[in-house]
Amino acid sequence: DIQSPVAVAIEAIATPSALILPRTAGLPDDLFQHDGQLTKREIRAITLSTLAPRGGELLWDIGAGSGSIGIEWLLAHPTNWAIGIEPREDRLANARFNAASLGVPHLDLRLGSAPEALQDLPTPDAIFIGGGASRDGVLDAVWQALPAGGRLVVNAVTLETEAELIARQARHGGSLLRLSVERAGPVGGMTGWRAAMPVVQWSVVK
Ligand code: SAH
Repeated sequence: DIQSPVAVAIEAIATPSALILPRTAGLPDDLFQHDGQLTKREIRAITLSTLAPRGGELLWDIGAGSGSIGIEWLLAHPTNWAIGIEPREDRLANARFNAASLGVPHLDLRLGSAPEALQDLPTPDAIFIGGGASRDGVLDAVWQALPAGGRLVVNAVTLETEAELIARQARHGGSLLRLSVERAGPVGGMTGWRAAMPVVQWSVVK
């Protein structure tokens, strides 16, 4: 019994529990198992757009957390690959669970900290830093590892890391972007804007 795509779509819309997933980057946050350390949906969508995954490319996801950036990089193209570095075993377990449940179990997750854990990794096409950028040697190591034409995207939420990104942008070029997201939520019996921490993003092509 073969149904037309339109009939299938109508049935999906008519089903109250149907999950409507975006085909572009920016999956809903609650699809990920996480402890609060998650690049939030709107920031993640922009981050993936800037990382610009193309087929067959390798991403280093440094500070993998719940794995969301590496996962969406892999979802962008079936031949992509990604290595996630994360020092916390509990978060690595979340990332492993998320990669499996979202259909990309080939996310290569490694327990460790940058910069040590970056030694001997295969040359990346793009690098994302979601955590660890303030640590000595991390930004130097990724800049060195990046080939000419490689993309680097770094997200910062602290002033210390932000200052470092401003200095690097002055030296290497690229763009600085500040992203602020507010979602409407309950305030007493009414509704108000709840702001997430602003994220400063430095992106550059080497
Ligand atoms: N992008 C992630 C969230 C990152 S939160 C997601 O969407 O799930 C930042 C992460 O960086 C934390 O999990 C923290 O443990 C990790 N981290 C901190 N210092 C690090 C370092 N030196 N190397 C690698 N990861 C680090």
